[in-house]
Amino acid sequence: MNKAHPGLPEFDYVKPDSLVEASQFLVQHAGQARPFLGGTDVFVRMRDGFWPSAYLVDVKYLDGTADLRFDPATGLTVGAGVNMNRVIASPVVAEHYPLLVEACRAVASHQLRSRATIAGNICNASPAGDTIGSCLVLDGTVNVHGVDGFRKESLATFFLGPGKTTLKAGDIVTSVAFPLPPSGSAGKYIKLGRNAVGDLAIVGVTVFGYPDSGKPSGYCFRIALASVAPVPLRAKEAETILANKPIDEATIAEAALAAMNACNPIDDVRGSARYRKLMVRNLTRLAVTQVYEQIENQA
Ligand SMILES: Cc1cc2nc3c(=O)[nH]c(=O)nc-3n(C[C@H](O)[C@H](O)[C@H](O)COP(=O)(O)OP(=O)(O)OC[C@H]3O[C@@H](n4cnc5c(N)ncnc54)[C@H](O)[C@@H]3O)c2cc1C
Repeated sequence: MNKAHPGLPEFDYVKPDSLVEASQFLVQHAGQARPFLGGTDVFVRMRDGFWPSAYLVDVKYLDGTADLRFDPATGLTVGAGVNMNRVIASPVVAEHYPLLVEACRAVASHQLRSRATIAGNICNASPAGDTIGSCLVLDGTVNVHGVDGFRKESLATFFLGPGKTTLKAGDIVTSVAFPLPPSGSAGKYIKLGRNAVGDLAIVGVTVFGYPDSGKPSGYCFRIALASVAPVPLRAKEAETILANKPIDEATIAEAALAAMNACNPIDDVRGSARYRKLMVRNLTRLAVTQVYEQIENQA
C-alpha cells in the first residue's frame, strides 16, 4: 500500500570501493540493500514508502561504469553510470545509434536526464520505460557483475514482470552493450503521453529496420512496444509479416494489426486498454512507414 511520506525514510549511504565489495555487500544485506545509479526511481519509491531499504549502495563510481565507448569493430558500450544527457550529447552515439538518442530525449526533462541512466531505466523494468524499446530492437545486452563474477545477459529474456528482472541479490549491471547496427538502418520511437513532455508513456512504439537480402521482403524490421503489457515486448508476428511480404501500405497495415494483437494492456489513469491497443496499431503503422521511407531515402 502507498504510504506517502513527507521526506525520505532513514537509510545508510554505502559507497563501495570495488564491484566485488559491492556485490558482497548486496548479498550479505539481501532484502535490505539496493543498488542505485541516478536514484530517480529509487528515491521516489522510497519517499512513497514502497521500498524500505536500509542501505542504498551507490554503484555509479565503480570500475568502468562511467565509460561511454564506441569501437567500430564491436559497437557501443554505455556504462551503467552514464546519464542520459551524456548519451544524447555523444557524437558517436548520434552518428551510429540515433534511435538511442531519440529514446533518451523522450525521458522527462533535461534536469531529470542529468541523473537518469539507461541502465537504471532497464533495471527498474517498468513496462513504460522509454529507452527499453530502443535497447531491445538494437539487440542490447547487459553486462552484470555478481558474486560469481561477470556475465552477459540478453535483454530479450531479461524482463520477467513489472519491476522484475532476472537479476539476483548481489547483481550489478555495469554497462549496456550494443552491436554495430546493420548498414542502411533507420529507427523511430513514438511516445504517446498525456502531454508533450514529462509524462510516462500511455503507449510507446519503437521500430528499427534495415535492408536484408536474406528476407523475402528485402527488409528486416524489429518492433518493440511499451506500456501495453506487463513487460516491454517485441511484436514478433508483425516483424515476420514485414519480413515476408512486399513492403506496401497493405502489408504495413497488416503488421500494425498484428502488433495491436500482441499487446495485453491494462486500464489505468493514463488510458484505457482499448485506447492503448488502437494507438499501438496507429503508431506502429506510422513508425514503420517513417522508418521504411528513411531506409529508402538513404539507399
Ligand atoms: C519526475 C520523473 C519523471 C520521469 N519520467 C520518465 C519518463 O518520461 N520516462 C521513463 O522511462 N522514466 C521516467 N522516470 C523514471 C526514471 O527517471 C527512469 O526510469 C530512469 O532511467 C532511472 O534511472 P536511474 O539511474 O535514476 O535509476 P535508479 O533510480 O538509480 O535505479 C532504478 C532501479 O534500478 C536498480 N538499479 C540501479 N542501478 C542498478 C545496477 N547497476 N544494477 C542493478 N540494478 C540497479 C535500482 O535498485 C532500482 O530498482 C521519471 C522519474 C521521475 C522522478
